[in-house]
Amino acid sequence: MKYKVCRNCGYKNPVEEFICLKCMADISTADIVEEKQATETKYEESNLSIEDEYKTSVELSEKLILKHEKFSIEVFPGDVVGRHAKGKQYLKNYPTVSRIHAKFYKEADGWYVEDLNSTNGTYANDKRITKKTKIENGDIIKLSLSIAFKVVIEKH
Ligand SMILES: [Zn+2]
Repeated sequence: MKYKVCRNCGYKNPVEEFICLKCMADISTADIVEEKQATETKYEESNLSIEDEYKTSVELSEKLILKHEKFSIEVFPGDVVGRHAKGKQYLKNYPTVSRIHAKFYKEADGWYVEDLNSTNGTYANDKRITKKTKIENGDIIKLSLSIAFKVVIEKH
């Protein structure tokens, strides 16, 4: 649909009008605007919401789960895990875990773990790590030799 939009009151007049039907203003020089069909508008709106959903799922995927047989610790990028840090409600029962034990990072190519000079070490797939180490879905991470987790990286 095409309209002549009145500059005075904003009323959408039929293009053949020269006087605004609502306020009688001169609309002979008013701009003619084309309004999109209702179906087109609807389509654009639904595209937008798909984009929003996509954004949400990307945010949700910025999470790694350390899965122990009795509990799970949700780790977000930059989280420090330890007896006095993330997961302390569970880890406080494990004296071999340091107060701040390991840090988890997310980089462009995936997740990394770094040991924070813990007393008893951090292990990735049974290897004690000495530097920032890449971790993959299904890897086994140990905080000291007493407690093991399976890495679950949620992908959407
Ligand atoms: Zn008008």
